[in-house]
Amino acid sequence: MNYIYNSKEYRQQLLERFLRYIKVWTTSDSEAADKGLIPSTDRQWDLARQLESELNTLGLSDVQVTDKCFVYGRLDGESQSDGIILLAHLDTSESVTAEHVNPIIRTDDNDTIIRTDGSTLLGGDDKSGIAAIMTMLSYLTDHPQMRHCPIEVMFTPDEETGTGIGSVPLELIRAKTGLTVDGSAEGELECECFNAAEASVTIRGKAIHPGYAKNGGLVNPLLILSELVTALPADKRPETTDGYQGYIYAESAKANPDGAELKLLLRSFYENEMAAYKSMILRTADILQNKYAAQITVNIKDQYQNMKQIIDQHPHLMSKLTEAYQAAGVKPILRPIRGGTDGARLSFMGIPTPNIFDGAHDFHSRDEWASLNEMCRAADVLINYVRE
Ligand SMILES: [Zn+2]
Repeated sequence: MNYIYNSKEYRQQLLERFLRYIKVWTTSDSEAADKGLIPSTDRQWDLARQLESELNTLGLSDVQVTDKCFVYGRLDGESQSDGIILLAHLDTSESVTAEHVNPIIRTDDNDTIIRTDGSTLLGGDDKSGIAAIMTMLSYLTDHPQMRHCPIEVMFTPDEETGTGIGSVPLELIRAKTGLTVDGSAEGELECECFNAAEASVTIRGKAIHPGYAKNGGLVNPLLILSELVTALPADKRPETTDGYQGYIYAESAKANPDGAELKLLLRSFYENEMAAYKSMILRTADILQNKYAAQITVNIKDQYQNMKQIIDQHPHLMSKLTEAYQAAGVKPILRPIRGGTDGARLSFMGIPTPNIFDGAHDFHSRDEWASLNEMCRAADVLINYVRE
């Protein structure tokens, strides 16, 4: 069934919401986030307060913004069935500025496409998801005769920095399953993501005037660092992998004559492959340490895990979702997320949370765009999921 996609009124509502949300500047800041600040930027409160007021206007109960900037509300169903929590994130990526978004809207016979003027992000990631959720809530509150399961919504800060979800107010959540609305093209349905780890490599060399460096006087950390990076297999780089292939990404480095630091990101869908990546890095560091008589330390930290192992334990969730897609006229396309989601973290906190599409494309870039058709389809998938 289509509720939003075929309705002029609700299409217009969704578009207006989307345009309202993208105009609020909510870029998060990884540097502040790494220092433990949540939300990492005060501007995320602006959208949080706005959404809080909209949820109140829609008549949801228990509406609140927590001290860490999580927006929460509940729409109780009449039925006794298990509820669902719908999530989307408030913040946008810091890769490109999102201040003063100036949307360009083009409508033809088939669709309405929203882009920027090329100077900023659009912010469809993830304001498309917020607009889809809000519009489905608006439809349900306008149509109280439609029976649905209990629904909770949560708009979360600092998804892009990966730090917000660690402060999720679990005590508010009643549902045993969740959905993030944070995918891309129509049909995408994601229940697996990378296992992720970060390796910090510290190289201590020996500094000396380079004019007197011959025969062991100088141990150049920058040279060792570059040798380490090039020793990593070329077929395991982000640039050479896709689909279910993992990678090791040499993400950033700094060096001076005395020492060097390198950050490597390890990503794999499989735990045994992840273990192999870790030992490859340790082995390479060991070889170079002996070769150059340098001091190399490797510190590996796990970041998040593949949610598939949790979601596989709840087969009803994926089958119900697939039915909701089909009922909304959308063909489900199961694909792995080559990244992580808040849902992955939530899954390991006991709330299995796959990810659905939201109609936003080319994230984290000035070319970002969103399709109104696809955002409406996402709202329809949600309504078909919750209705009984
Ligand atoms: Zn996102």
